Amino acid sequence: MRLSFVGAAQEVTGSCILVESEGLRFLVDCGMFQGGRDAHARNTQAWPFAPRDIDFVLLTHAHIDHSGLLPRLAALGFRGAIHTTRTTADLLPVMLADSAHIQEVAWARAQRDQASRRGRPGRPAVPLLYTVAQAEACIEQVHGVDYDTELRPHERVRCVFRDAGHIIGAAIIEVWLREGARTRKLVFSGDLGPPGRPVVRDPTPIAEADVLVVESTYGNRLHRPLDATIDELVEVIEETLRRRQGNIIIPAFALGRTQELLMLLARLRRQRRLPPMRVFVDSPMAHRVTEITASHPEVLDDETRALFRHGQLASDGLALSFTRTVEESVALNRVKAGAIIVAASGMCDAGRIQHHLRHHLGRPECAVVILGFQAEGTLGRRLVDGVKRVRLFGEDVAVRARIHTIGGLSAHADRDALLHWLRAFRQPPAQCFVVHGESETARGFARTIQEQLGWNAQAPAAGQQVEIG
Ligand SMILES: [Zn+2]
Repeated sequence: MRLSFVGAAQEVTGSCILVESEGLRFLVDCGMFQGGRDAHARNTQAWPFAPRDIDFVLLTHAHIDHSGLLPRLAALGFRGAIHTTRTTADLLPVMLADSAHIQEVAWARAQRDQASRRGRPGRPAVPLLYTVAQAEACIEQVHGVDYDTELRPHERVRCVFRDAGHIIGAAIIEVWLREGARTRKLVFSGDLGPPGRPVVRDPTPIAEADVLVVESTYGNRLHRPLDATIDELVEVIEETLRRRQGNIIIPAFALGRTQELLMLLARLRRQRRLPPMRVFVDSPMAHRVTEITASHPEVLDDETRALFRHGQLASDGLALSFTRTVEESVALNRVKAGAIIVAASGMCDAGRIQHHLRHHLGRPECAVVILGFQAEGTLGRRLVDGVKRVRLFGEDVAVRARIHTIGGLSAHADRDALLHWLRAFRQPPAQCFVVHGESETARGFARTIQEQLGWNAQAPAAGQQVEIG
C-alpha cells in the first residue's frame, strides 16, 4: 500500500491523498489550492496520477479546499463514484457551481485584460480551471451515505463516515483495506471541529487505526474559551453599532461560519445581551446553504435543531435579511449604521465582501470582524497583520476601520482539542501523518504528538509518497 500526499501537505489547502493498493487507486478529497499567487498554476498543473485510473473518491466535506477540483478530475477522465455523506452530497452542487462561476468570471476578466493590453483579442494566459457545466456534470457521480453506515466502494474496501463536528456533513472517514489475507485500517480525520461548536455536534472519537492522517490547522495554538470569545463579540458589536454608530463587516464562508454566526446572534438576542440590530447576509449561496442546513435536522446540535424547528432564526430584535440580487447588494451601500453585513469570501479574496470592504475600510467608526483562519497571501491575512492600505478594484483604500480578530469561533480544533481527540485511540497507530497545517505548524504538531503521546508521527512534504509496509 502506498500513500501520496498530493496537497495540503505542510499547507492548509489543496487536500488530496492518493491511496494505491495492488492496482486499486482511490483519492481521499480532491481540493483546490487557495490563496497565494501560484494557486491557479498549481490547480491547473497535472496530477501525479491519471484521473481515468482513479477507481473512486472518498470526500470528507464540502469545503472547496477539499472538494474544489472534483469537476476538473471528472472533466479529465475520472468516471468513478464520489462517496460522501448525504448532507455533503446536498451541499456540493451549490459549492461547486459557485466555485465554477468564480473561475469563469476570473477567466473572462483575464481574457479582457489581455485583449485590452494588446488592443486585440488574445489567447488567455491562464487556462480556465472548469466551467459551470463541468461542475454540474460531476455532480452525477456523487453518492451520499448516512453517518455511521457501512459502505463498500470496492470488493476490498469498507468504509464508514463519522461526524467530524466541523461543518454540517463533515466526516472523519474510517477505511478498512484488504490486501491478500491482511486487512488494515486507515483513518482520515478530515477537518475536525472544536467541541461545543454551535450548529454541529462534537467530533466522534475513534478508537483504532493502523494508519492515521490527522489535520493540524491550529496544531500550534490554543483558542480562547468560547465564553470569552462571545463576550468579545458582544463588546465589538455594542461598541460599533451603539456607541460609534458604524457598521460591522464580517467576511464569512457561506458554508459553516455564516450559520454559526446567525445561531450565536440569535442566542445573544434571546439572552438580551445585544441591542436590536439589522443583519444582512449578502450571499445567495449562504441563503441556499442555510436552507440545506435546516433540511438536515439529523446532523444538527440540539439548540440549532430547535431553532429551525420553530422557525425562530430571526427572533425578536434580530432583523435578518438575505440579499439575493446584485441590486439588493448594492443597496446595502446606503446603510450607514447599525448593521452587521456578512458576506463571502471568508478570506476576503473574492466575492461581495470586497465591495463592502471598499465602502467601509476607510470609515473609523466601522469595524471588520475576522472570525476564521486567514491563509498566507490572502487579503484577510493582510488585514489581520495590520496593513494600512489595501488595493481593491484597482483603487488604493486606506484602512481606518478597526480590525478585530476573534479567534475562538474557529471551525477547527485547537492543539489541545486535537490531542484530546487523539487520546481516544486505544493503541498508537503504527503510522501517523500530520497534514492540513502550514509548514511550521504541521511539523510542530507532529513533534507534539511524538513527545506527548509517544507515537510515530511525521508531517509529509507536498508530493511525498510513503510505502506502508
Ligand atoms: Zn473545512
